[in-house]
Amino acid sequence: MKTKICSKCLGDLPITDFRKRLNKKKDYSYFRSWCRFCERVAALEYYRLNREHIKRYAAEYRRLNKEKTYIRKRLYLKNNPWAKTSHSIWVRVKKQYKKLGIKNYLTTQALRFLWFRDKAFSMKKPSIHRIDSLGNYTLKNCKYMESREHTILHNHRRQMQPRTTAGVFAGAGVYEQR
Ligand SMILES: [Zn+2]
Ligand SMILES: [Zn+2]
Repeated sequence: MKTKICSKCLGDLPITDFRKRLNKKKDYSYFRSWCRFCERVAALEYYRLNREHIKRYAAEYRRLNKEKTYIRKRLYLKNNPWAKTSHSIWVRVKKQYKKLGIKNYLTTQALRFLWFRDKAFSMKKPSIHRIDSLGNYTLKNCKYMESREHTILHNHRRQMQPRTTAGVFAGAGVYEQR
């Protein structure tokens, strides 16, 4: 196997541990002198030290390139439809679930996992369901459901647990026990 010495950590590493850079105009490619790991560490360190500057720069870029940003965002959501779920969960957690203490522990990557596990891509309108309606948004407690079936399920639960006796209705099939 071909190896290369990283000029940062001085490790003799397989060539696949280095990022390849392609120069299209000059039509040649080369490997970076730092390995992937060293590059990552340096990038994180740079971000840590210049966070405010980077944030301000990014905001300024978005302000000046509104159309580009909009197109990129649309494209991102098209390719990563589970990211929409992530957004709607954050809205729910901040608003109607706040007083119930329901928290979100699902990352976008976790939602991606659920998306493929539950085959949400083949659903007409996928929606996220918490199995225990008083539980948090976690990998164990969540699954994607067809929106129609989801509504039916919650309507059924609502009928089984009338609001007059059990507790206060708190939206999306959640009953707060008093
Ligand atoms: Zn290195
Ligand atoms: Zn549900």
